Amino acid sequence: MNRFPTRCVHSGTMKDHVKKGINSPIYTSTSFEFIDQEDTIYPRYLNTPNEKAVAEKIASLEDAESALVFSSGMAAISTVLFTFLGKGDHAVFQKGLYGGTSHFLDREFERFGIEYTIAPSQQAGDLESCIRENTKILYIETPSNPLLSITDIQAVATMAQSLGVLTVIDNTFASPVNQQPASLGIDIVVHSATKYMGGHSDLLAGAVAGKDELLKEIYQTGLNFGGSLNAMTLYLLERSLKTIHVRVERINDNAMELAHFLVSHPKVLQVNYPGLPAHPGHEIAARQMTGFGGMLSFEVKDQDGIAFQKKLKLVKPSMSLGGLETICSSPAHTSHRHLGPEGRKAEGISEELIRLSVGIEDVEDLKADLEQALSTT
Ligand SMILES: *Cc1c(COP(=O)(O)O)cnc(C)c1O
Repeated sequence: MNRFPTRCVHSGTMKDHVKKGINSPIYTSTSFEFIDQEDTIYPRYLNTPNEKAVAEKIASLEDAESALVFSSGMAAISTVLFTFLGKGDHAVFQKGLYGGTSHFLDREFERFGIEYTIAPSQQAGDLESCIRENTKILYIETPSNPLLSITDIQAVATMAQSLGVLTVIDNTFASPVNQQPASLGIDIVVHSATKYMGGHSDLLAGAVAGKDELLKEIYQTGLNFGGSLNAMTLYLLERSLKTIHVRVERINDNAMELAHFLVSHPKVLQVNYPGLPAHPGHEIAARQMTGFGGMLSFEVKDQDGIAFQKKLKLVKPSMSLGGLETICSSPAHTSHRHLGPEGRKAEGISEELIRLSVGIEDVEDLKADLEQALSTT
């Protein structure tokens, strides 16, 4: 098998038999000739040539048998969860979930008769103690948002397997460049491809990768929920994935440098980045990740998160993550606003916490912008 960067560029690419172009052609049709063959091609059936090209590339990058592409990360996540959970079933989720996922559980599970438990931590032992007789799914997310906690993927996968529980991981923050959970024993990997996979802050997509037999079941539910992706966006996603290794490696380097810069800054209280030796999950992260990613968070001193963000000139306060440009957010005022002060305290999210999604700019320019905004005089 070719090495990772080669697979980014080449795997899944369609052959252009008509004109011998080097890129996959874009098939925009929603109607394909059909007389008496067994299968029909139709975009909602997740089987168009462009869907298959991207799915094959993602399966290859995730070291998985098979993959499917969806219209958003939440379309991928909801389809996976509703494939394996029904009335009377139970699922265990780790603490520190992506906000959209926790909103989904909160709003949808009860009325479908599905029970769930949010574990008190990311530790394998704490996750295990939440498992019951009717538990079907164990769901983790590492590094987590916005505190960058690390879950031991292999320990969780081994424990769940011994108990006959399917494991799902949201691998969005790490991206397949830094972490390939299927090779550590996880059954199903989900992504918001809107983030690092798309990588240019201009498309919405999701993906699922894993074992063939599980993907076949997810596929059947996917047909019913209808969250398939259009050919144009599939093409953009294929194009983006060809450069994901170059983008994410540069982002890893920039984030590591900024983490060290922030740690030694007198106006910064706390830096959360798994690449720092002082991070409580550093050893596990070093074992299961090949790079520490582009997400980090820190607490500013002597000013609140809003005042700090207003002073930034290059780094833009923005939603989402994983693009080429460095952006920041104040979780207490955005993603975790709905928790209220008490809820945020329980989660360890202060008013002064700033989350960065580091981009590919020159790191000296990023440092200069953070420096001027940190100074309170
Ligand atoms: C953005 C995000 C999602 C949801 O993806 P959408 O593409 O917005 O539907 C899920 N998980 C994580 C970690 C995310 O950052």
